[in-house]
Amino acid sequence: MEVRPHAVRATQPGLDEVRHWVFDMDGTLTVATHDFAAIKRALDIAADEDIIAHLAALPDPQARAKRAWLFEHERALAEAAVAAEGAVDLLRALAGQGSRLGILTRNDHALAQLTLDAIGLGDLFQAADIIGRDEVAPKPAPDGLHYFLGRWGITAAQAVMVGDHRMDLAAGRAAGTPTVLVNTPGDPWPGMADWRFADCRALHAALQR
Ligand SMILES: [Mg+2]
Repeated sequence: MEVRPHAVRATQPGLDEVRHWVFDMDGTLTVATHDFAAIKRALDIAADEDIIAHLAALPDPQARAKRAWLFEHERALAEAAVAAEGAVDLLRALAGQGSRLGILTRNDHALAQLTLDAIGLGDLFQAADIIGRDEVAPKPAPDGLHYFLGRWGITAAQAVMVGDHRMDLAAGRAAGTPTVLVNTPGDPWPGMADWRFADCRALHAALQR
């Protein structure tokens, strides 16, 4: 387990004091299965292009066809989703202590609900606790985090953003919300994560000490 005391800010509470948690979904609460390179090949999107930005810029008929393909592809992944190590226990424990939980995903809202149901966490989230790619400007934009801060009536420093990807950390940085990296070995994005853990089980263990 890695707990990184990096950038300890005087105003930043310890993780065990945090009561507002925003989680990325795919690869954070689930075992990562998206093959983004293959998705880009199938949709004729350049390797260095952002999938969501590409679809947003297309003329309508083309965009509709590609979005439909992506939805079906991701639906199959959602139905087969498997919980990541420690994710179910962590979220049940946080909910049990009264923490507010949100999902901020670049996936589709309905597919996020399907995925959460598949891994046994669907009952923890109302529809308004799940923000997908069509509800706000997607990560790395801070808009989704701004939504949750407003919904919960808190400052950025009172929440944390937990994810497995650079975009999760960038969204946290952009919103001023502390960041937690899981399921990603090493430190691939130095300075972007306030805490790093091997997985949700290790994060959960750190909260219990
Ligand atoms: Mg992810």
